[in-house]
This record gives sequence, structure tokens and C-alpha cells, in this order.
Amino acid sequence: MSLVAVLAEMPDLLERTLSQHVPDDRGNCRECRGPSGVTATWPCLMRKVAAEAQDLRAGGLPGTYRGARHRPLRAVAG
Ligand SMILES: [Zn+2]
Repeated sequence: MSLVAVLAEMPDLLERTLSQHVPDDRGNCRECRGPSGVTATWPCLMRKVAAEAQDLRAGGLPGTYRGARHRPLRAVAG
């Protein structure tokens, strides 16, 4: 089971992740900081995972999330 699927099953944790992993005024994640003060560029990996989990909860199919909202349904070539 992927981390995305796990998060999608845990709404509380998902909410917390989305509310904690927000950009600071320099465009870095407020939550992802290393001991030496290194920060991850936002959106960080956790934020992306949480966004995909949210998409999954909203009815998206696993592995189809591309970060774009309101993408055309005909995105799949046929
Ligand atoms: Zn983060």
C-alpha cells in the first residue's frame, strides 16, 4: 500500500499534513526542516503526497493525480 493510500485512509492525519506543510515567506515548507536549518522547497514531498491522497478521497483514481485541478476528463489518450 502506498503512502498516498495510507493517508487517504486517515483523514485526520491528512488534514494535519495539509495544514502543517504550508509555504513560508521564502517559498519553503514550514514543516520540512532539517536539524541544520535546511528547508525543503514547497510544495514538499509530503505536501504532494497529501494532495494526491486528497484527490483519491475526492474520487480520483490511484496513480492518476498530476497536481492539476479541474483537468479535462479526456486527459487519457484514446
Ligand atoms: Zn513539508
